[in-house]
Amino acid sequence: MRANSNFDRLEQSYLFSTVARKVAAFKQANPDVTVIKMGIGDVTQPLAPSIITALSQATKEMSQADTFRGYCDDAEGYEFLRAAVTDHYARLGADLGLDEVFISDGAKSDLGNILDIIESGSKILIPDPVYPAYVDTNVMNGNTILYSKGTIENGFAPLPDDSVDVDVVYICSPNNPTGAVYTAEGLAAWVAYALEHNALIIFDSAYEAFIREPGLPHTIYEIEGAEKCAIEISSFSKRAGFTGVRCGFTVVPRNLEVCESNLNAFWRRRQNTKFNGVPYIVQRAAQAALSETGRKETAEQVDTYLRNAQIIGDAFDSMGIAYTGGRNAPYIWARCPKGMCSWDFFDLMLEKAHCVATPGVGFGSAGEGFVRFSAFGRTDDCKTAMERIQQMLEEEELI
Ligand code: PLP
Repeated sequence: MRANSNFDRLEQSYLFSTVARKVAAFKQANPDVTVIKMGIGDVTQPLAPSIITALSQATKEMSQADTFRGYCDDAEGYEFLRAAVTDHYARLGADLGLDEVFISDGAKSDLGNILDIIESGSKILIPDPVYPAYVDTNVMNGNTILYSKGTIENGFAPLPDDSVDVDVVYICSPNNPTGAVYTAEGLAAWVAYALEHNALIIFDSAYEAFIREPGLPHTIYEIEGAEKCAIEISSFSKRAGFTGVRCGFTVVPRNLEVCESNLNAFWRRRQNTKFNGVPYIVQRAAQAALSETGRKETAEQVDTYLRNAQIIGDAFDSMGIAYTGGRNAPYIWARCPKGMCSWDFFDLMLEKAHCVATPGVGFGSAGEGFVRFSAFGRTDDCKTAMERIQQMLEEEELI
């Protein structure tokens, strides 16, 4: 027997364990100090009332013999939820059929699983910095990884380089960790690249619900031609607080072909072979999240996170610290002052301001010199943290 040797090529991720270790050591040495955590990527607000009602109604159905549900007939999800997802896309201006939507147990699973339908050894273009799962899943699959660098100059929304030929392009918009959002022109450039190079786009729209500025694309399918080259992977986690409930959706267009292979048929086959669907009660909860009441309630929760992001962004504006994100995303990606590196600034913030943010270098080498602030915490904590950080930067003469 031989193990998958690609796993030996995975880089150890020390990011969150090192953050946790440093915070624990600081707390042990300073038991009376309150540390404010601005590093969390998880939601903090409870599920909205309409979602709780749907969950309990569905649970009640499971308790009665005549309404009990076992396996769902289709691994791709109940029609009621796929219809709610196609209605959601129709509101965004994209016309999708029920057979193009696949319900998942979250975006992370499908971001990895989708590689089952892509030949091992493919050339993959991944943004740097970005959500680490893209890199690790491709390493596990034996793919070759190239990076498209995000910089202050390109607003962390890199554009295609026609001289580079790849098979698959990952795009995350709004981006984790930089909060950058692609314009329609930017996405159109990637769609043109993909069509020209016969490449597949994997578009991660996990943070779509945070886009509030008119004119910014919420889905890749707003771009003409995307249905011929793009798969979209999305989630209820951040839009509706489902990080612990687990539900997402993946769109594989009906006519998406690569070298005469139909990817919709491949993905359907893959799902029916390796997946037995998302729990009925969870699918009812997700349907409620997309109902009129659910959309209103969850939009209010997202508004709260966006207000936190505004507090953080306004504070950095007044300090003259450069950053991206925060306007249509729950993350603020701030440049460390005076050319400090990510970990040095992390240590300084922990020691002097008693605040924790995530070192940007943990999201890729292009993240060196930045830190990620999350807006998923409590509003009071955001205000206090920014006051403490401003005072610290003034005392240290860093602003
Ligand atoms: N995609 C991005 C960009 C994320 O930041 C995350 C989670 O933080 C996910 C996907 C995973 O989402 P899910 O909870 O649906 O697995």
